[in-house]
Amino acid sequence: MRLAELMSLRQTIGAGVLVTLTDRCPLSCAHCSTAATRQGRDLDRAALLRFLGTFTVRARPDVLMLTGGEPLLRPGLVVEAADTARAHGTRTAVLSGAFFADGGPLPATVRRVARAVDHFSLSLDAFHERQVPRPHVFDALDGLLATGVAVSLHLLADGPADTYPDEVSAQVQRRFGSEVPMLVGRLSPIGRGAGLRPRPRPQALPDPRTAAPCDMAAWPVVTSDGSVTACCNQDVADRRVRPGHLGLGDIRSTTWQTVCERAHADPMLRMIRTVGPVHIAGRAGLPLADGYCTTCHRLDGSDAARDWADRAGAGPAGELLQAAAVRRGEAAGPAALVARHGPARHAHLVDPGHGPAVRPRQEHTP
Ligand code: SF4
Repeated sequence: MRLAELMSLRQTIGAGVLVTLTDRCPLSCAHCSTAATRQGRDLDRAALLRFLGTFTVRARPDVLMLTGGEPLLRPGLVVEAADTARAHGTRTAVLSGAFFADGGPLPATVRRVARAVDHFSLSLDAFHERQVPRPHVFDALDGLLATGVAVSLHLLADGPADTYPDEVSAQVQRRFGSEVPMLVGRLSPIGRGAGLRPRPRPQALPDPRTAAPCDMAAWPVVTSDGSVTACCNQDVADRRVRPGHLGLGDIRSTTWQTVCERAHADPMLRMIRTVGPVHIAGRAGLPLADGYCTTCHRLDGSDAARDWADRAGAGPAGELLQAAAVRRGEAAGPAALVARHGPARHAHLVDPGHGPAVRPRQEHTP
């Protein structure tokens, strides 16, 4: 499964599910978008396998995305999860910090994981390199490619003028051709990287009178405590905030079908995907927070916001509005999505050899 295919599903509701297998990580990079530590929590194995067992051939995500922390700290569970998901037709992708890359052959456990999954991504950025040297990551890519699995790199840019992704992508293309697509994200003051840079001035919020939909609420996210939320905002994924209106259940007691039905049909989620939280807050007469997602968090518990969302987003009309918003996002393609959340000039690297850099529309999500 190539990175472009994976990203082309990213705006389709329920096409994927993101699962945090553990909050632990053996690396201590100065920047990490998660708050992983050496002693973090592990997701309950039995609960995860039970939940994956509720997938059916007709009701299942296309992609199971396993992340952390460092998911390769639980290689046996990665294989079990991938096998369970595959029995119902779901493919698996895994994102690792490549702590195992030491310049030698890939450890047998990593080769076993690579044969069990459909996509294997490695992180690489200026902070990672101080823990895992770039040549070792490239050697690990060679080893992974030899197993036949599709691979990609997740790079980070420290602002739009940062030349790090240019330098790395040039090396990657010389060594691997188009075999290693790259997803270039933006260094953000979140997770362990929260204190790394002075917090930037918050971006101007979109005009509350206009629609500014959120495109990060399509895939449910299972956090390490087993709860399921509707979006991958890092503060929500790390459980620093628990907005009730984004809750979709708990893997100990719910099924994929129920999660997916809630994700599709909840009027508040439909309106977040269709007009965005700032517009909802404006309609409900709520004061805006200083950020797009923090405004979304404020919708939690607001009767006025819920009433407006119920009026606008329930029933067939709400379903049609949501379907139109999703279709627009899907039609724009994966590079357009990447350009909204990272440096636009590197967005084409998600599908090397196809198309020029993409100009983003307004950026407002993390
Ligand atoms: S606006 Fe932010 S917090 Fe709300 S659903 Fe989207 S990503 Fe999550």
